[in-house]
Amino acid sequence: MFMDLHMHSNYSDGKNTPEEMIEAAIGIGYETMAITDHVWKSSSWIPAYAAHLHALKRNYRHQIRLYTGIEAKVVSLDGDIDADPSFDSLVDLVLGSIHRIPKPDGYYSKADAGRLPRGSIIGNWLEAFYGMLDNPRVDIIAHPLSELKGFGIREEELPMEEITDRIAHSGKILELNVRYNTPDQAVIRISAHKGIPFLISSDSHSVQDLIANSRLVKEFTGRGYQLIDIHRHIGEKKNNTLPQPKPD
Ligand SMILES: [Zn+2]
Ligand SMILES: [Zn+2]
Repeated sequence: MFMDLHMHSNYSDGKNTPEEMIEAAIGIGYETMAITDHVWKSSSWIPAYAAHLHALKRNYRHQIRLYTGIEAKVVSLDGDIDADPSFDSLVDLVLGSIHRIPKPDGYYSKADAGRLPRGSIIGNWLEAFYGMLDNPRVDIIAHPLSELKGFGIREEELPMEEITDRIAHSGKILELNVRYNTPDQAVIRISAHKGIPFLISSDSHSVQDLIANSRLVKEFTGRGYQLIDIHRHIGEKKNNTLPQPKPD
């Protein structure tokens, strides 16, 4: 299944319209795609965005399967996301991502990375990450380790077995994001035998990105990872029959 389920249009910080992104994805040969714009709790445009994408889903149904989504940032240590709960039922997929590492009184700043205690950055990142894994609103964990890279924190400093066990336990879909693929590949390498469903995505912000990234998406798709059956996932989500997280 050749697909890309993470990209942005000009509803948020992408350069192109949803129509332009869809036409480009069809041209590349994707069978399935999702437009997943960044949201904030205050994003009042979500109903219009969802209605627009829903109409496009029908218009393009003979050429590509389009899903609708949002990418929501983790805003606190408990894994709450920056999206009003009313948005969830308007779209097919909710991507959760850590764009800034929360702490009790705000966020860590990358500018201070060299002066901050690494143990606290890692500890707070882990708390927020595990909070996101426990958040039932999130379907896909987008670019899982990318934010740590900005603080110079490497895979070797992290409890990778525990992290990947927790992901497996959560039942969430894990994204290998080709934009940040080095840390994300590490997660996949360590957890390949843990039964975690994966996804290869490009996080494109323009038609140009989408075309350039499609080569890597294709390459990783062909590597034999256990990829999610997204049609089934979305069907189960709609029917409320998604498998629940495993009990402790
Ligand atoms: Zn992101
Ligand atoms: Zn993104």
